[in-house]
Amino acid sequence: MLNDFIALIFPHVCVSCGKSLYKNEHSICTYCAYYLPKTNFHLDSDNPIVKIFWGRVDVFSAAAFYGFNKGGKVQHLIHQLKYKGQKHIGVSVGKLYGYELKYCEDFNTADIIIPVPLHPKRQKKRGYNQSDCFAEGLSESMNVKADLKSLYRSVESETQTKKSRFSRWQNVESIFQLRDAAQLEGKHILLVDDVITTGATLEACAHTLLQVPGVKVSIVCMAYAAH
Ligand SMILES: [Zn+2]
Repeated sequence: MLNDFIALIFPHVCVSCGKSLYKNEHSICTYCAYYLPKTNFHLDSDNPIVKIFWGRVDVFSAAAFYGFNKGGKVQHLIHQLKYKGQKHIGVSVGKLYGYELKYCEDFNTADIIIPVPLHPKRQKKRGYNQSDCFAEGLSESMNVKADLKSLYRSVESETQTKKSRFSRWQNVESIFQLRDAAQLEGKHILLVDDVITTGATLEACAHTLLQVPGVKVSIVCMAYAAH
């Protein structure tokens, strides 16, 4: 009965190539998982994701699992995850990455996993937060608890193109807030998101989390889109 239940959530075909999956495979077949463009950034403490945050916010370690190319397989996966209701992709990718991060000292000291939140209105429309799915997968393979409640988004604003740099910054700063912050004190937080480009959203989240005494923030994303 459990297998039937799992089959309902996890389709029988690979979301990348469409071929049938074996019992031990979920969402992505072994062949595709092997050939997806991994960055291996987690093995390099001076990687491009770490550099994004230099001089902006104090991040302990940072990495992204895959490289994101326009029209490539990773873009397809993330599109299915974000817009086609295929939550299992986030869970599967999170699991795969977690198995690698588990053996990496920069990440395996994390006490808690926190996904970048969507505004409640947006989440209601989509039905879920794709970063929650990624966090769930990571949580399972890293054996670290995911916390989907403490960090929340209080402002919807996405279109900030015409504002001055200063007001834009102020705007981003106040987007995220914490509830029950005391229980995060002294923790190493793994902040996670789907795709990283400029890092502005993650930076704002990290600033909010770093207001809690003794907190250390590391960042992990599914994919890196160089801009
Ligand atoms: Zn495949």
